[in-house]
Amino acid sequence: MVIVMKQEATDKQIEGIIKKLVSQDFDVHRSTGVEHTILGAVGAQVVDIRDYEVLDGVKEVHRITVPYKLASRAFRPDGTVLDIRGVKVGGDEVVIMAGPCTIESYEQCDVIGEHVKAAGAKVIRGGAFKPRTSPYSFQGLGAEGLKAIRKAADKHGLLVVSEIMESSQLDLAEEYIDIIQIGARNMQNYPLLRGVGRTQIPVLLKRGMSATLSDLLLAAEYVMSEGNHQVILCERGIRTFETQTRNTLDLSAIPVIHQLSHLPIIVDPSHAVGIRDKVAPMARAAVAAGGDGLLIEVHHEPDKAACDGAQSLYLQQFTDLMKELRTIAAAVGRTIAETEEEAVKV
Ligand code: PEP
Ligand code: MN
Repeated sequence: MVIVMKQEATDKQIEGIIKKLVSQDFDVHRSTGVEHTILGAVGAQVVDIRDYEVLDGVKEVHRITVPYKLASRAFRPDGTVLDIRGVKVGGDEVVIMAGPCTIESYEQCDVIGEHVKAAGAKVIRGGAFKPRTSPYSFQGLGAEGLKAIRKAADKHGLLVVSEIMESSQLDLAEEYIDIIQIGARNMQNYPLLRGVGRTQIPVLLKRGMSATLSDLLLAAEYVMSEGNHQVILCERGIRTFETQTRNTLDLSAIPVIHQLSHLPIIVDPSHAVGIRDKVAPMARAAVAAGGDGLLIEVHHEPDKAACDGAQSLYLQQFTDLMKELRTIAAAVGRTIAETEEEAVKV
Protein backbone atom coordinates (compact mmCIF):
# COMPACT_ATOMS: atom_id res chain seq x y z
CA MET A 1 0.00 0.00 0.00
CA VAL A 2 1.29 3.45 -0.88
CA ILE A 3 0.13 6.55 1.00
CA VAL A 4 0.76 9.92 -0.61
CA MET A 5 0.65 12.75 1.92
CA LYS A 6 -0.68 16.22 1.12
CA GLN A 7 1.89 18.92 0.45
CA GLU A 8 0.89 20.70 3.66
CA ALA A 9 0.87 17.53 5.83
CA THR A 10 2.57 18.10 9.16
CA ASP A 11 5.26 15.89 10.69
CA LYS A 12 2.81 15.05 13.48
CA GLN A 13 0.25 13.75 10.96
CA ILE A 14 2.90 11.71 9.14
CA GLU A 15 4.21 10.24 12.40
CA GLY A 16 0.63 9.38 13.43
CA ILE A 17 0.07 7.43 10.22
CA ILE A 18 3.37 5.59 10.53
CA LYS A 19 2.40 4.60 14.07
CA LYS A 20 -0.97 3.25 12.87
CA LEU A 21 0.71 1.27 10.06
CA VAL A 22 3.26 -0.22 12.44
CA SER A 23 0.49 -1.16 14.86
CA GLN A 24 -1.08 -3.13 11.98
CA ASP A 25 2.22 -4.96 11.42
CA PHE A 26 3.30 -3.08 8.30
CA ASP A 27 6.94 -2.29 7.54
CA VAL A 28 6.96 1.37 6.58
CA HIS A 29 9.32 3.03 4.10
CA ARG A 30 9.22 6.82 4.16
CA SER A 31 10.42 8.91 1.24
CA THR A 32 10.38 12.65 1.35
CA GLY A 33 9.96 14.19 -2.09
CA VAL A 34 10.12 17.83 -3.10
CA GLU A 35 6.34 18.21 -2.79
CA HIS A 36 4.98 15.12 -1.08
CA THR A 37 5.99 12.60 1.53
CA ILE A 38 5.23 9.08 0.40
CA LEU A 39 4.80 6.15 2.77
CA GLY A 40 5.27 2.65 1.37
CA ALA A 41 3.66 0.05 3.64
CA VAL A 42 4.64 -3.59 3.19
CA GLY A 43 2.69 -6.35 4.93
CA ALA A 44 0.43 -9.33 4.40
CA GLN A 45 -2.68 -7.96 6.07
CA VAL A 46 -5.71 -6.85 4.10
CA VAL A 47 -6.91 -3.46 5.36
CA ASP A 48 -9.69 -1.16 4.29
CA ILE A 49 -7.79 1.61 2.51
CA ARG A 50 -10.57 4.05 3.38
CA ASP A 51 -9.36 3.87 7.00
CA TYR A 52 -6.23 5.69 5.79
CA GLU A 53 -7.84 7.87 3.13
CA VAL A 54 -9.88 9.69 5.76
CA LEU A 55 -6.91 10.58 7.97
CA ASP A 56 -5.77 14.20 8.17
CA GLY A 57 -2.90 15.03 5.84
CA VAL A 58 -3.50 12.10 3.47
CA LYS A 59 -3.85 12.94 -0.23
CA GLU A 60 -4.39 9.47 -1.68
CA VAL A 61 -3.91 5.78 -0.91
CA HIS A 62 -3.19 3.03 -3.45
CA ARG A 63 -3.38 -0.70 -2.92
CA ILE A 64 -0.46 -2.38 -4.69
CA THR A 65 -1.30 -6.01 -4.10
CA VAL A 66 -4.64 -7.67 -4.78
CA PRO A 67 -6.75 -8.79 -1.80
CA TYR A 68 -7.09 -12.32 -3.18
CA LYS A 69 -3.95 -14.44 -2.97
CA LEU A 70 -4.79 -18.05 -3.84
CA ALA A 71 -6.98 -17.00 -6.77
CA SER A 72 -4.47 -14.54 -8.19
CA ARG A 73 -2.45 -15.20 -11.31
CA ALA A 74 0.74 -14.73 -9.28
CA PHE A 75 -0.12 -17.83 -7.25
CA ARG A 76 0.13 -20.00 -10.38
CA PRO A 77 1.51 -17.97 -13.27
CA ASP A 78 1.12 -20.85 -15.77
CA GLY A 79 -2.61 -21.16 -15.15
CA THR A 80 -4.63 -24.03 -13.71
CA VAL A 81 -5.92 -27.02 -15.62
CA LEU A 82 -8.45 -28.95 -13.55
CA ASP A 83 -8.71 -32.66 -14.19
CA ILE A 84 -12.23 -33.67 -13.29
CA ARG A 85 -12.53 -37.42 -13.77
CA GLY A 86 -10.54 -37.11 -17.00
CA VAL A 87 -12.21 -33.92 -18.28
CA LYS A 88 -9.62 -31.15 -18.35
CA VAL A 89 -10.90 -27.63 -17.76
CA GLY A 90 -8.53 -24.74 -18.48
CA GLY A 91 -6.38 -26.55 -21.04
CA ASP A 92 -6.51 -26.50 -24.83
CA GLU A 93 -10.00 -27.94 -24.97
CA VAL A 94 -13.04 -25.69 -24.61
CA VAL A 95 -15.29 -27.83 -22.41
CA ILE A 96 -18.98 -27.76 -23.23
CA MET A 97 -21.55 -28.28 -20.46
CA ALA A 98 -25.13 -28.52 -21.67
CA GLY A 99 -28.54 -29.64 -20.52
CA PRO A 100 -31.86 -28.42 -19.19
CA CYS A 101 -32.33 -25.57 -16.80
CA THR A 102 -34.05 -27.85 -14.36
CA ILE A 103 -34.27 -31.61 -14.06
CA GLU A 104 -37.81 -32.76 -14.82
CA SER A 105 -37.54 -36.55 -15.15
CA TYR A 106 -35.12 -39.39 -15.85
CA GLU A 107 -36.44 -39.63 -19.42
CA GLN A 108 -35.76 -35.94 -20.00
CA CYS A 109 -32.16 -36.26 -18.76
CA ASP A 110 -31.70 -39.41 -20.81
CA VAL A 111 -32.89 -37.87 -24.11
CA ILE A 112 -30.98 -34.63 -23.62
CA GLY A 113 -27.88 -36.40 -22.26
CA GLU A 114 -27.70 -38.74 -25.23
CA HIS A 115 -28.01 -35.85 -27.66
CA VAL A 116 -25.53 -33.42 -26.08
CA LYS A 117 -23.00 -36.21 -25.61
CA ALA A 118 -23.26 -37.17 -29.27
CA ALA A 119 -22.75 -33.51 -30.21
CA GLY A 120 -19.53 -33.27 -28.16
CA ALA A 121 -20.56 -32.04 -24.70
CA LYS A 122 -18.54 -33.44 -21.77
CA VAL A 123 -20.81 -32.40 -18.91
CA ILE A 124 -24.60 -32.44 -18.48
CA ARG A 125 -26.12 -29.56 -16.56
CA GLY A 126 -29.46 -29.50 -14.77
CA GLY A 127 -30.71 -28.07 -11.49
CA ALA A 128 -32.40 -30.10 -8.77
CA PHE A 129 -32.45 -27.17 -6.34
CA LYS A 130 -33.56 -24.10 -8.24
CA PRO A 131 -32.97 -20.57 -6.99
CA ARG A 132 -36.19 -19.12 -8.42
CA THR A 133 -36.90 -15.42 -8.15
CA SER A 134 -40.49 -16.19 -7.11
CA PRO A 135 -41.24 -18.59 -4.24
CA TYR A 136 -44.29 -19.76 -6.24
CA SER A 137 -42.25 -20.98 -9.25
CA PHE A 138 -41.16 -24.63 -9.59
CA GLN A 139 -38.34 -25.15 -7.08
CA GLY A 140 -36.78 -28.31 -8.53
CA LEU A 141 -37.09 -32.05 -7.87
CA GLY A 142 -34.45 -32.15 -5.13
CA ALA A 143 -32.77 -35.49 -4.41
CA GLU A 144 -34.97 -37.34 -6.95
CA GLY A 145 -33.72 -34.99 -9.64
CA LEU A 146 -30.10 -35.61 -8.74
CA LYS A 147 -30.64 -39.36 -8.99
CA ALA A 148 -32.15 -38.90 -12.45
CA ILE A 149 -29.36 -36.74 -13.84
CA ARG A 150 -26.68 -39.03 -12.36
CA LYS A 151 -28.25 -42.06 -13.98
CA ALA A 152 -28.43 -40.41 -17.40
CA ALA A 153 -24.88 -39.03 -17.07
CA ASP A 154 -23.46 -42.45 -16.23
CA LYS A 155 -25.34 -44.05 -19.09
CA HIS A 156 -23.94 -41.57 -21.62
CA GLY A 157 -20.47 -41.00 -20.16
CA LEU A 158 -20.99 -37.42 -18.99
CA LEU A 159 -20.07 -35.54 -15.83
CA VAL A 160 -22.81 -33.80 -13.82
CA VAL A 161 -22.83 -30.10 -12.91
CA SER A 162 -25.69 -29.12 -10.60
CA GLU A 163 -26.41 -26.36 -8.14
CA ILE A 164 -26.68 -26.61 -4.39
CA MET A 165 -28.06 -23.76 -2.35
CA GLU A 166 -27.08 -24.68 1.20
CA SER A 167 -24.41 -26.67 2.99
CA SER A 168 -26.96 -29.26 4.16
CA GLN A 169 -27.12 -30.39 0.51
CA LEU A 170 -23.40 -31.29 0.47
CA ASP A 171 -24.03 -34.96 1.29
CA LEU A 172 -26.24 -35.26 -1.79
CA ALA A 173 -23.59 -33.46 -3.82
CA GLU A 174 -20.95 -35.97 -2.69
CA GLU A 175 -23.17 -38.77 -3.91
CA TYR A 176 -24.47 -37.43 -7.21
CA ILE A 177 -22.58 -34.36 -8.46
CA ASP A 178 -19.16 -34.05 -10.15
CA ILE A 179 -19.10 -30.23 -10.22
CA ILE A 180 -21.05 -28.22 -7.65
CA GLN A 181 -22.60 -25.09 -9.12
CA ILE A 182 -22.85 -22.02 -6.92
CA GLY A 183 -25.45 -19.82 -8.58
CA ALA A 184 -25.27 -16.10 -9.19
CA ARG A 185 -27.63 -15.43 -6.27
CA ASN A 186 -25.36 -17.30 -3.88
CA MET A 187 -21.98 -16.01 -5.03
CA GLN A 188 -21.69 -14.05 -1.81
CA ASN A 189 -23.20 -16.66 0.49
CA TYR A 190 -20.00 -16.96 2.50
CA PRO A 191 -20.99 -19.89 4.75
CA LEU A 192 -21.93 -21.86 1.60
CA LEU A 193 -18.63 -20.92 -0.09
CA ARG A 194 -16.74 -22.10 2.99
CA GLY A 195 -18.84 -25.27 3.04
CA VAL A 196 -17.97 -26.26 -0.53
CA GLY A 197 -14.40 -25.19 0.21
CA ARG A 198 -14.18 -27.92 2.83
CA THR A 199 -15.00 -30.61 0.24
CA GLN A 200 -12.80 -31.77 -2.62
CA ILE A 201 -15.61 -31.52 -5.19
CA PRO A 202 -14.84 -29.11 -8.05
CA VAL A 203 -16.88 -25.91 -7.90
CA LEU A 204 -18.43 -23.87 -10.71
CA LEU A 205 -18.74 -20.39 -9.25
CA LYS A 206 -21.10 -18.10 -11.14
CA ARG A 207 -20.62 -14.36 -11.07
CA GLY A 208 -23.26 -12.53 -9.07
CA MET A 209 -25.47 -10.27 -11.14
CA SER A 210 -24.03 -7.13 -9.59
CA ALA A 211 -20.62 -8.47 -8.62
CA THR A 212 -17.38 -6.96 -9.83
CA LEU A 213 -14.66 -9.30 -11.03
CA SER A 214 -12.80 -8.53 -7.85
CA ASP A 215 -15.88 -9.66 -5.84
CA LEU A 216 -15.95 -12.86 -7.91
CA LEU A 217 -12.28 -13.58 -7.23
CA LEU A 218 -12.77 -12.92 -3.53
CA ALA A 219 -15.66 -15.39 -3.55
CA ALA A 220 -13.30 -17.92 -5.17
CA GLU A 221 -10.77 -17.08 -2.46
CA TYR A 222 -13.34 -18.10 0.18
CA VAL A 223 -13.61 -21.56 -1.40
CA MET A 224 -9.86 -21.94 -1.90
CA SER A 225 -8.92 -20.67 1.55
CA GLU A 226 -10.72 -23.70 3.00
CA GLY A 227 -8.54 -26.07 0.96
CA ASN A 228 -10.55 -26.72 -2.21
CA HIS A 229 -8.57 -25.23 -5.09
CA GLN A 230 -10.72 -26.75 -7.83
CA VAL A 231 -12.68 -23.67 -8.84
CA ILE A 232 -14.04 -22.76 -12.27
CA LEU A 233 -15.37 -19.23 -12.67
CA CYS A 234 -18.43 -18.49 -14.79
CA GLU A 235 -19.52 -15.25 -16.45
CA ARG A 236 -23.32 -15.32 -16.81
CA GLY A 237 -24.21 -11.72 -17.49
CA ILE A 238 -24.64 -8.80 -15.16
CA ARG A 239 -27.50 -6.40 -14.47
CA THR A 240 -27.27 -3.18 -16.44
CA PHE A 241 -29.73 -0.55 -17.61
CA GLU A 242 -30.31 -2.50 -20.84
CA THR A 243 -33.65 -4.31 -21.02
CA GLN A 244 -33.49 -6.02 -24.42
CA THR A 245 -31.66 -8.99 -22.96
CA ARG A 246 -32.14 -10.69 -19.59
CA ASN A 247 -28.66 -9.57 -18.49
CA THR A 248 -25.67 -8.03 -20.24
CA LEU A 249 -22.96 -10.55 -21.07
CA ASP A 250 -19.63 -9.10 -19.97
CA LEU A 251 -17.29 -10.91 -22.31
CA SER A 252 -14.42 -8.67 -21.31
CA ALA A 253 -14.46 -10.68 -18.08
CA ILE A 254 -12.62 -13.45 -19.94
CA PRO A 255 -9.35 -11.65 -20.77
CA VAL A 256 -9.50 -9.71 -17.51
CA ILE A 257 -9.89 -12.87 -15.41
CA HIS A 258 -7.17 -14.59 -17.40
CA GLN A 259 -4.87 -11.72 -16.51
CA LEU A 260 -5.85 -11.47 -12.84
CA SER A 261 -6.27 -15.15 -12.02
CA HIS A 262 -4.97 -18.62 -12.86
CA LEU A 263 -8.47 -20.11 -12.60
CA PRO A 264 -10.38 -21.22 -15.70
CA ILE A 265 -13.38 -19.12 -16.75
CA ILE A 266 -16.37 -20.38 -18.70
CA VAL A 267 -19.37 -18.50 -20.07
CA ASP A 268 -23.12 -19.10 -19.70
CA PRO A 269 -24.70 -17.31 -22.66
CA SER A 270 -28.16 -18.71 -21.87
CA HIS A 271 -28.78 -16.84 -18.61
CA ALA A 272 -26.95 -13.83 -20.01
CA VAL A 273 -29.24 -13.15 -22.96
CA GLY A 274 -32.33 -15.08 -21.87
CA ILE A 275 -33.60 -15.51 -25.45
CA ARG A 276 -32.88 -18.58 -27.57
CA ASP A 277 -31.88 -16.84 -30.79
CA LYS A 278 -29.20 -14.74 -29.04
CA VAL A 279 -27.50 -17.68 -27.36
CA ALA A 280 -25.53 -18.98 -30.35
CA PRO A 281 -23.95 -15.62 -31.33
CA MET A 282 -22.78 -15.03 -27.76
CA ALA A 283 -21.54 -18.61 -27.40
CA ARG A 284 -19.46 -18.13 -30.56
CA ALA A 285 -18.13 -14.83 -29.24
CA ALA A 286 -17.23 -16.40 -25.88
CA VAL A 287 -15.10 -19.06 -27.56
CA ALA A 288 -13.47 -16.43 -29.78
CA ALA A 289 -12.67 -14.35 -26.68
CA GLY A 290 -10.82 -17.23 -25.02
CA GLY A 291 -13.46 -18.78 -22.74
CA ASP A 292 -12.38 -22.14 -21.30
CA GLY A 293 -15.85 -23.60 -21.65
CA LEU A 294 -19.55 -22.93 -22.07
CA LEU A 295 -22.62 -23.71 -19.99
CA ILE A 296 -25.63 -23.87 -22.29
CA GLU A 297 -29.28 -24.67 -21.68
CA VAL A 298 -30.64 -27.28 -24.08
CA HIS A 299 -34.04 -28.98 -23.99
CA HIS A 300 -35.71 -31.61 -26.18
CA GLU A 301 -39.06 -29.82 -25.77
CA PRO A 302 -38.26 -26.22 -24.77
CA ASP A 303 -41.87 -25.15 -25.23
CA LYS A 304 -42.87 -27.51 -22.41
CA ALA A 305 -39.85 -26.87 -20.16
CA ALA A 306 -40.55 -26.29 -16.47
CA CYS A 307 -38.09 -23.44 -16.41
CA ASP A 308 -36.21 -21.18 -18.88
CA GLY A 309 -37.69 -22.77 -22.01
CA ALA A 310 -37.40 -19.52 -23.95
CA GLN A 311 -33.64 -19.50 -23.62
CA SER A 312 -33.11 -23.24 -24.11
CA LEU A 313 -31.79 -24.42 -27.47
CA TYR A 314 -33.56 -27.15 -29.41
CA LEU A 315 -31.45 -30.29 -29.73
CA GLN A 316 -30.65 -29.68 -33.40
CA GLN A 317 -29.73 -26.04 -32.71
CA PHE A 318 -27.20 -27.26 -30.18
CA THR A 319 -25.63 -29.68 -32.65
CA ASP A 320 -25.40 -26.95 -35.30
CA LEU A 321 -23.84 -24.56 -32.80
CA MET A 322 -21.23 -27.14 -31.77
CA LYS A 323 -20.09 -27.39 -35.39
CA GLU A 324 -19.64 -23.62 -35.60
CA LEU A 325 -17.85 -23.54 -32.27
CA ARG A 326 -15.30 -26.10 -33.48
CA THR A 327 -14.32 -23.81 -36.35
CA ILE A 328 -13.97 -20.83 -34.03
CA ALA A 329 -12.03 -22.82 -31.43
CA ALA A 330 -9.55 -23.95 -34.10
CA ALA A 331 -9.08 -20.35 -35.24
CA VAL A 332 -8.02 -19.31 -31.72
CA GLY A 333 -5.79 -22.31 -31.08
CA ARG A 334 -8.28 -24.34 -29.03
CA THR A 335 -10.22 -27.55 -29.58
CA ILE A 336 -13.73 -28.80 -28.88
CA ALA A 337 -14.45 -32.51 -28.55
CA GLU A 338 -15.59 -34.07 -31.79
CA THR A 339 -18.98 -35.63 -32.22
CA GLU A 340 -19.03 -39.40 -32.07
CA GLU A 341 -19.71 -39.37 -35.84
CA GLU A 342 -16.65 -37.23 -36.58
CA ALA A 343 -14.48 -39.29 -34.26
CA VAL A 344 -15.45 -42.46 -36.15
CA LYS A 345 -14.46 -40.88 -39.49
CA VAL A 346 -10.85 -40.23 -38.34
C1 PEP B 1 -28.61 -21.86 -13.52
O1 PEP B 1 -27.55 -21.97 -14.17
O2 PEP B 1 -29.40 -22.79 -13.39
C2 PEP B 1 -28.92 -20.58 -12.88
C3 PEP B 1 -29.94 -20.46 -12.05
O3 PEP B 1 -28.11 -19.58 -13.24
P1 PEP B 1 -27.70 -18.22 -12.46
O4 PEP B 1 -27.33 -18.63 -11.07
O5 PEP B 1 -26.55 -17.74 -13.27
O6 PEP B 1 -28.89 -17.32 -12.53
MN1 MN C 1 -32.00 -21.58 -16.17
